[in-house]
Amino acid sequence: MKRLDGKIAWVTGAGSGIGEAAALGLAREGAKIVLTGRREAPLEDVARRIKSAGGAASVKPGDLMQPATARRIADGIKRDFGRLDILVNNAGIQYVAPVQEFPVAKWDAIIAINMSSAFHTTRLALPGMVKSGWGRIINIASAHGLVASPFKSAYVTAKHGIVGLTKTVALETAEQGITCNAICPGYVHTPLVDAQIDGQAKAHGIPREQVIRDVLLAQQPNKKFTTVEELGALAVFLASDAAATITGIALPVDGGWTAH
Ligand code: NAD
Repeated sequence: MKRLDGKIAWVTGAGSGIGEAAALGLAREGAKIVLTGRREAPLEDVARRIKSAGGAASVKPGDLMQPATARRIADGIKRDFGRLDILVNNAGIQYVAPVQEFPVAKWDAIIAINMSSAFHTTRLALPGMVKSGWGRIINIASAHGLVASPFKSAYVTAKHGIVGLTKTVALETAEQGITCNAICPGYVHTPLVDAQIDGQAKAHGIPREQVIRDVLLAQQPNKKFTTVEELGALAVFLASDAAATITGIALPVDGGWTAH
């Protein structure tokens, strides 16, 4: 018997990075995974890997910038599986610029995907979880949900917002067998961060290795990236019965960054 046998889990942004690792980790523990992301091909690839390891997965791509996408996919999950037990809100994007130069369209997109999409999926997931008396909502926030860095106004705002949503949902569902928690990683080497390394290397005219140590990991005392596998394992733990009374937390996984 695996820890999550029989559970249905919906992971957003599941085609790469942290979402992919969460999907693979939850699948290994027996959950059936619904994979959402902007592009279908990477989702199909993750689904293939889950299935070839003996797990179950289905692909429901879509742009979560549109609230209607969350509705379409939640309805599809209800139709296909009759229930949703675990929701991992992970889809996210980044853009870096000083506030006075921050493009309005980028601000709107980051708030929509990194924060509001979690509201849209959560509000649709909750009625079924309340009915079954069991649910797990795991929000992939960031150390930037707890502290700020310059030039990341939209990202920091959205991540602080999702930590607020996490606490509110936890309080509203505390008596109903549902937990809602935020994972707050420091830097993790994924496509999202790779783009920042390239951008910073060009901007400062320094090699990528120097960007990693002196710019990105400057605040991270252990000077190491958190791995996606570590975050996948944490998502599995938070989804398990062992974490039944952990709710409303924003857990830093940041090599000591937010201990400063
Ligand atoms: P990533 O770029 O590999 O993954 C982001 C995922 O979000 C992609 O699969 C993408 O398809 C999906 N996505 C983006 N826009 C979308 C949209 N409009 N609709 C649907 N899906 C969309 O990056 P990652 O580093 O794995 O990031 C995953 C989450 O972890 C993000 O919320 C990010 O903010 C957070 N995070 C990352 C780090 C890090 O250092 N990489 C640190 C802290 C938090």
